Amino acid sequence: MPELPEVETIRRQLKAVLVGKTIAKVEVLRSKSFGGDPESLTGWIIKDVQRKSKVLEILFRGKTEMVVVHLKMTGQLVFLGKGRKVVGGHPTADWVNSLPSKHTRVVWTFNGGDKLFFNDMRVFGWMKLMEKDKYDKEVRKMAPDIIDDDFTLEYFTEILRKSRKPVKLVLLDQDKMGGLGNIYVNDALFLAGIRPERKSESLSEVEIKKLHEAVVKVINLGIKYGGASSSNYVDVSGLGGTYQDHFLVYKREGQKCLNCEEKIKKIKLGGRGTFFCVHCQK
Ligand SMILES: [Zn+2]
Repeated sequence: MPELPEVETIRRQLKAVLVGKTIAKVEVLRSKSFGGDPESLTGWIIKDVQRKSKVLEILFRGKTEMVVVHLKMTGQLVFLGKGRKVVGGHPTADWVNSLPSKHTRVVWTFNGGDKLFFNDMRVFGWMKLMEKDKYDKEVRKMAPDIIDDDFTLEYFTEILRKSRKPVKLVLLDQDKMGGLGNIYVNDALFLAGIRPERKSESLSEVEIKKLHEAVVKVINLGIKYGGASSSNYVDVSGLGGTYQDHFLVYKREGQKCLNCEEKIKKIKLGGRGTFFCVHCQK
């Protein structure tokens, strides 16, 4: 599943190619994948591409409606322009093969012939045309993202102090903070020197401060490396993020800790693979 760094990476890339483009037509190949009337988009000009949590927002000049996109498990976006290709989301062979493919659900065609494909193997993702006001009301209820200004140390402290759950599970709770998936939580806890199974409320002020810095740092590293990719196709095409080359503890069980001689241990916590150094994390 694409995590926040992957979504932020594709947002930046799409913004660079989409702003100013006029929509010639939007074709919906699978009705479940698009909410609203696609025909009403004809002639609209893209003004901006923004993001809240893992939802991409496509805004239009002079319009009060926007298109919001959630990639969910297997969604991906592929922009094909003249000499320009942008791919993001779940990596599959569709990144390098010809499009549309059997996974293509929506195709946007722009004046001049450039295209944007929304592919989604499992069809959990969606594009929705909706009023900005209505969307803002729903989004305002969402927890702050790790990279937002309102994700302050004070907010983080309040959340951690209130829970008796293992700290790792609190970090993964998208109702409390948006954007941290399993990879980044494992690495952030390593950076902060905290065991994943520690009770959240047991963390000291100093530990909370270290952890706040660590989660922001790993998310920004993820964005810097363009997210993590886990597929062979990435090697074939040369596309995709490289955070996987910079994992600190994630998927490194049995390998030497980056700080000491200890080997990284793996346990299950909340059903997810959990990686840590018994020596460096307390
Ligand atoms: Zn260690």
